[in-house]
Amino acid sequence: MEIVKRQKMLIFLAFLLFLSGCAGQENEAGDAAETRFFGMDTDISITAYGKNAEEALTDAQSKVAELEKLWSVTDENSDIYAINHSRGRPVNVSEETKRILSFALDMAKQTGGALEPTIYPALTAWGFTTGENRIPDKSELEEILRDVGYGNVHLSGNEVTLPSGMELDLGAVGKGFVADELSNALKQAGVTSALLDLGGNIQLIGTKPDGTDWKIGLRDPFGESYIGVLSISDRAVVTSGNYERYFIGEDQKQYGHILDPATGYPAENGLVSVTVVAEEGKLCDALSTSLFVMGQEKAMDYWRENQNFDMILLTEKGEIYLTEGLADKFETEPDYGDVRVELIKETVDRKGE
Ligand code: ADP
Ligand code: MG
Repeated sequence: MEIVKRQKMLIFLAFLLFLSGCAGQENEAGDAAETRFFGMDTDISITAYGKNAEEALTDAQSKVAELEKLWSVTDENSDIYAINHSRGRPVNVSEETKRILSFALDMAKQTGGALEPTIYPALTAWGFTTGENRIPDKSELEEILRDVGYGNVHLSGNEVTLPSGMELDLGAVGKGFVADELSNALKQAGVTSALLDLGGNIQLIGTKPDGTDWKIGLRDPFGESYIGVLSISDRAVVTSGNYERYFIGEDQKQYGHILDPATGYPAENGLVSVTVVAEEGKLCDALSTSLFVMGQEKAMDYWRENQNFDMILLTEKGEIYLTEGLADKFETEPDYGDVRVELIKETVDRKGE
């Protein structure tokens, strides 16, 4: 029974967009332009309104290709490939690589290493980088973790030094960072309203052309319908969970692709997903991954300490926890049943204290 329930959860896709009524429409802001393409290992779609939207979307696609080429782990010409094969020698990187790396290292520090840009060798041990999944021994993981640690990455100006045996991977922040770049470029080109979807990483410019909020649906992990809908504008919305990329081991257990850097094992702490809402996509992307690693209690504490974002936590028990900023933006679907929605408060209520 347990397995049946879990498998149902896996069908769950984080977000579904309700785009009807806006795509293809003309409006005061100018014609709608749409594009769909494959990039950064995922499906990307952008709908934009405003002057020059069409041209801006063509530029956006080239921008994705350009950044992807810099950060690919496998492309021999990428900055990341050069760093990972440098055998400890300093490597000169592009301005964009310097910026994303500097951001990733800051966030790694800020999250106490829950975000770990050097976790790649552990992902390889689990077969997540090759698709040939296996369950590594505890001792194998312990050995690998000796060469994992963002603190050993040195960035000085445009020069990166990575000790031999270590590997960098910006997969957990790349899409969010690219979404910010695209969003800024679109705004500069005169786009006043847009929805960018980079494989479920959502970035919104302005409101919908009719002036109302964009509606983003949160899928029900336990059924076919939605848990609720987020009405939101001018923000990024990013979800991380272990239900989309995972494998079932010989022991019939499910192993997800987000690893806890403290153990090298997939994060498993009662959370199904973490959705982060903030102005910048890169912050959302970095936090959704790392708060998922932290688990509910630590994620809530992190929010209390920082508060520069909002979040929605979904637990395996089917509960929803939201931060105060989303209280009037998130509406649960009547179909979802008697779901428990709790507000995460700024102060902790500890009974008996
Ligand atoms: P996705 O990119 O699949 O939408 P995330 O943004 O949460 O989801 O990034 C997950 C990816 O980041 C994994 O596929 C893996 O490459 C990498 N990763 C896994 N665990 C960590 C971690 N603790 N810190 C940094 N990167 C991680
Ligand atoms: Mg992420």
